[in-house]
Amino acid sequence: MILGAHVSTSGGLHNAIKNGTDLQCDTIQIFLRNPNQWQGKSPTPEIVEKFTAAWSETDLGEVIAHDIHLSNLASPKPDVLKKSRQAFREQMELAQLLDLRYIVTHLGAHLGEGETFGLQQLTDSFDFLFENTEAPDVMLLLETTAGQGTNLGYRFEHLRDVIGMSKYPDRFGVCLDTCHVFAAGYDIRTESDCAATFKQFDDIIGLERLKAFHLNDAKSEYQSRVDRHEHIGEGNIGTTAFTYILHDARFAEIPLIIETPQMKTMHEVNLSILRKLKL
Ligand SMILES: [Zn+2]
Ligand SMILES: [Zn+2]
Repeated sequence: MILGAHVSTSGGLHNAIKNGTDLQCDTIQIFLRNPNQWQGKSPTPEIVEKFTAAWSETDLGEVIAHDIHLSNLASPKPDVLKKSRQAFREQMELAQLLDLRYIVTHLGAHLGEGETFGLQQLTDSFDFLFENTEAPDVMLLLETTAGQGTNLGYRFEHLRDVIGMSKYPDRFGVCLDTCHVFAAGYDIRTESDCAATFKQFDDIIGLERLKAFHLNDAKSEYQSRVDRHEHIGEGNIGTTAFTYILHDARFAEIPLIIETPQMKTMHEVNLSILRKLKL
């Protein structure tokens, strides 16, 4: 298994590497900039150099980037759309410089304009980005979402449609978040639920698109469309789904990232629970 965690970049992007190796991670996920601000610091050659040097001194595998929280690439509001695209473009370019293969992104929210509008707006944003950004090696991972409010991405069909409508389908993969799919109404509490959900994923999107997992238990209820993560085994999903994923040979080479609460104190605990479930 390739197991890791979302870790802090506090004090500089290069610190994420140590945060990951301290937790014996095989892979990590990071924010490339403050996720709650539009403006990011522009990456200096020193930042890139320090990060690359720190990474190369370790056995750490994939480093995955996650888009900022403010982003809404499906927004009907021109100012938000413009800022979202600009911020995303900067993150894609930085990912390219840092040699990161993947940026995970949510699908945005249509804010009342309807899902058809939102999915088209989102696809247009991605095509605009592919055509106007110097980041040829960066793949976008569409994340399954819980579907709060008017958020898109809570049906596998939404992800399929964006990939299908884009002029650049090869630039997309998918990140499956266990908490989000459960809250969205894909049950994974028993082995047969897991088998059925992954069958649906394969039928609708195709398992070959699956490039990362977010392993989070859910504080939110099944079908609640609410996004609240919980420690592994302490939420409404329970351990069966995690045991299933950890032992399924189809997922052996796919990065498994925890985004559970209280990362400073609890990441170690959640990772050790997953390592035990793998035994
Ligand atoms: Zn996630
Ligand atoms: Zn979430």
